[in-house]
Amino acid sequence: MHRRLLLAAGAALPVAARAQSAVPAMASFSILGDLLREVGGERVAAGVIAGPDTDTHHFQPRPSHAEALRGARIAIRNGAGFDAWFDRLLASTRFAGVTVTATEGLALRPATGHSHGGKDPHAWQDVRLAIGYVRNIEAGLLRADPAGAEVYRARAADYARRLEALDGWIRAQVATVPEARRVVVTSHDAFGYFGAAYGVRFLAPQGMSADAEPSAQQVAALIRMIRAQGVTAVFLENIGNPATLRRLAQEAGVRVRGRLYADALSAPDGPAASYEAMMRANVGLLVPAMRGEG
Ligand code: ZN
Repeated sequence: MHRRLLLAAGAALPVAARAQSAVPAMASFSILGDLLREVGGERVAAGVIAGPDTDTHHFQPRPSHAEALRGARIAIRNGAGFDAWFDRLLASTRFAGVTVTATEGLALRPATGHSHGGKDPHAWQDVRLAIGYVRNIEAGLLRADPAGAEVYRARAADYARRLEALDGWIRAQVATVPEARRVVVTSHDAFGYFGAAYGVRFLAPQGMSADAEPSAQQVAALIRMIRAQGVTAVFLENIGNPATLRRLAQEAGVRVRGRLYADALSAPDGPAASYEAMMRANVGLLVPAMRGEG
């Protein structure tokens, strides 16, 4: 009797039945994948091509990645030259689903240092811009799966509220550091948006990325600055080559304070398994380091 009722209910509710097969969706890298999961919830089967702790700038997709993209109904990219390989993958697979550019319509900063072309692509490091990413992903999901509109709108609104709270928390944390001490040295210039949004100066010598080694003069100039200003916040990142920064810190006589998450999440069991966790982990390292504690 019970079983017959369930079957009847199933037959009468094709919408509910359809919802059980989630919308296949693919994001270019781990941070976008997390934003997509937050907005899509169980309605979306969110996949990621460049996974945790992976350098998206220099990612080289394999044939299996093209295959995964072919099955997707929606594809999410960062844009601004960050994930150009994803554009090539979309073209080579003749992707016919909805394509979302997460940075579309956002006020992007001019590029500094490492080679991205005209704009700095690391906009997710400003939580208010990440809310713009969420709105763009929401709009894309509404196009790809209009039947889920109510779900996507509610989830995006709820997530945006959480991100507003995160933004406020970061401002309050940075406010505990005296202004003159809000200086950080790090290994690649991914924190321009964070610096501009939250009032922190990030220093990374030109060329200090996976692309090129900085010159001896650049390193010497940075060491002089670290000493003269008493900079205590020196960090590595979860991507890129740590050797140069370790040597620089040693010569400047300062301790490397650990690893910031710039362009990728950590593995699920790490400290930055989600975008929110990543921002909290970074701020939790930056603030005591800038204050010269510990
Ligand atoms: Zn980067």
